[in-house]
Amino acid sequence: MKSMHTLTRQIMLAMIAGIVLGSVLKLSGPPAWAQLYLLDGVLGVVGTLFVSALKMMVVPLVFVSLVTGVTALSDLRTLGRMGARALALYLATTAIAVTIALGVAGVVDPGQGFDAGPSSASFTGKDAPPLTQVLTDLVPTNPVAAMAEGNMLQIIVFALLFGMAVTMSGQRGTHVLNLFTDLNVVIMHMVEWIMRLAPYGVFALITRTFASQGLDILLPLAAYFLTLTAALAIQMFGVYPLLLRGLAGLNPLTFLKKMRDPVAFAFSTASSGATIPVTLRTVEYRLGVKNSAAAFTVPLGATINMDGTAMMQGVATVFIANVYGVDLSLTDYLMVVLTATLASVGTAAIPAVGLVTLTMVLGQVGLPVEGIALIIGVDRLLDMMRTAVNVTGDCAVSCIVAKSEQAFDQSVYDDPDAGSVEAATHPPYSTSPAP
Ligand code: ASP
Repeated sequence: MKSMHTLTRQIMLAMIAGIVLGSVLKLSGPPAWAQLYLLDGVLGVVGTLFVSALKMMVVPLVFVSLVTGVTALSDLRTLGRMGARALALYLATTAIAVTIALGVAGVVDPGQGFDAGPSSASFTGKDAPPLTQVLTDLVPTNPVAAMAEGNMLQIIVFALLFGMAVTMSGQRGTHVLNLFTDLNVVIMHMVEWIMRLAPYGVFALITRTFASQGLDILLPLAAYFLTLTAALAIQMFGVYPLLLRGLAGLNPLTFLKKMRDPVAFAFSTASSGATIPVTLRTVEYRLGVKNSAAAFTVPLGATINMDGTAMMQGVATVFIANVYGVDLSLTDYLMVVLTATLASVGTAAIPAVGLVTLTMVLGQVGLPVEGIALIIGVDRLLDMMRTAVNVTGDCAVSCIVAKSEQAFDQSVYDDPDAGSVEAATHPPYSTSPAP
């Protein structure tokens, strides 16, 4: 038994190699040929292909997997209870995350003495959509359009209804279910192909990022950067392990070890949406959450649960308040917890959107939106880290909800090799006879 699987090790090595090569290129100033043929050429193509391939799988996977998941539920009450638990935990973990972020920021006080300089920078944000629109948008007028746009909540609603109808359609429904069960296996095979290519994709993405984002830009904003990094680390290595142990009696170390792949994907793509295929695969095959729970909690979490993003918004608010010399009252802090939690629900699972929804949080406490221009320079790296936390939060909550619903296989969770891509050459699901 190895401590780390070959593929995971290759992905980690690819990340380190990408950081080194990217930083060297940045420091030395990449020669024109390297920029043209290497960074924009080969690495640009490989990185884009990798992310596109991942995104290509999201809609088919979520739809098919959710339809099979719903049909496996014994009754609708189970779905309702699971939904309520997942929602409550997603909101609670985000509120805890912002509170920790504000606590750490309160101690470090980043931004004191920061010279914003004569700033001509500007930033345009967006307003929160009214609640009525959020609710009416839940039901797609056209499910094909919802899929084409990748509107996750609408896809979830359509898949839930479709799955329920399959269950209630007797013999005919069983035919449809068999088809979807087989499709699920086929699509998972495609996801595994992409995972096998991950070392190349990750290397290309990370090299490009570090070649354009030299670490020198971090220096003036080191206090902000380090405060947020510390807060994210507390959430990842403190809060989730405690919740897993306390609410589900699960060994947190096993969890963190099995999170390496989705964390690497989230870090290099900075998109929890693009990471969904890997998150779903990890939660089901590596952590032992049954499809009936995972198919629902993972896409929901990727869409509405952004603990890392909310932490960024908490630290950024304190930083910007300090730079502009504004004192935040206790009520302001409470407002930040509330709005950052809600804003994280409304943040799309793609790169850099957290900054856009930060405008809502700043607006709530009367801070200038232009403040965002101060932190935008270091945002890419922080986006990568907070996306890793976002995805870890989705997986932790999925495990806790599944455990409480007996939709959990402890032997899979405890087996260090369960569901590894290497072991999946003869995957567990292909050994079961086709229905
Ligand atoms: N990139 C983040 C995600 O996809 C969202 C954000 O914070 O910008 O989870």
